[in-house]
Amino acid sequence: MKAKAAAPLRKKTAPKVASKKSSSRPAIKKSPAKKSPANPDLAPSRIDEILHRLQKAYPNAKCALHHRNAWELLVATILSAQCTDARVNMVTPELFRKYPTPKAMAEAPIPAIEEEIRSTGFYHNKAKSISGAAKRITEVFHGQVPRTMDELLTIPGAARKTANVVLGTAYGIASGIVVDTHVLRISRRLSLTKNTDPKKVEQDLMQIIPRDHWIQFSHEVIHHGRQVCIARKPRCIDCTLETLCHSSDKTWSSH
Ligand code: SF4
Repeated sequence: MKAKAAAPLRKKTAPKVASKKSSSRPAIKKSPAKKSPANPDLAPSRIDEILHRLQKAYPNAKCALHHRNAWELLVATILSAQCTDARVNMVTPELFRKYPTPKAMAEAPIPAIEEEIRSTGFYHNKAKSISGAAKRITEVFHGQVPRTMDELLTIPGAARKTANVVLGTAYGIASGIVVDTHVLRISRRLSLTKNTDPKKVEQDLMQIIPRDHWIQFSHEVIHHGRQVCIARKPRCIDCTLETLCHSSDKTWSSH
């Protein structure tokens, strides 16, 4: 009785297998190299998902440095080197009350600027940069912070990161991507780059992130770096990107 019942099952399944194997048509060769990118971590669908989740997690992410115009943002960004944004925000109101314009700052003695910014650290160099920036903006750019990367890079104290902050946040110009310590660390953890040099990391990110996300991406990643993907012990269990991340730094994994 058992042998009779099993026979029809074998007959039903056998022809399907036989027809595939016996086909004389040449097999269609799939080309995984063409269909998926060389590095799946950089696949547009993965990048889109990262951007989508960041946007959802930090819908109001913006620059934490208080400022009323491009000049104030430039100075605040110079001051933020090796210093917290909160500390900079404590210093700048009085600094700009005393020296509200590039011209006023250009005329201020450097020791007077140093006195105002001392608590932000490295105040000798920072005061020199701020004074130099004020003079150049007054003398060459008619008191206006320029709107191009090339011009900004001629201003003392303004390297590429600072220029990107000013262009993106003050003017809404996506000339590049701000790569600070958070963006660098998280881009590496998310396998978006293998580089450690900020300029190379920026180039890598500019290749894979759509230009209309360049400005917001940095704001969101900086927030993520401060709140969740912190340097020493990332809070992976709370991370919106956890299922997309295979960093060796992870402290928790769902997969
Ligand atoms: S899973 Fe962890 S390491 Fe990866 S991005 Fe999130 S917090 Fe950072």
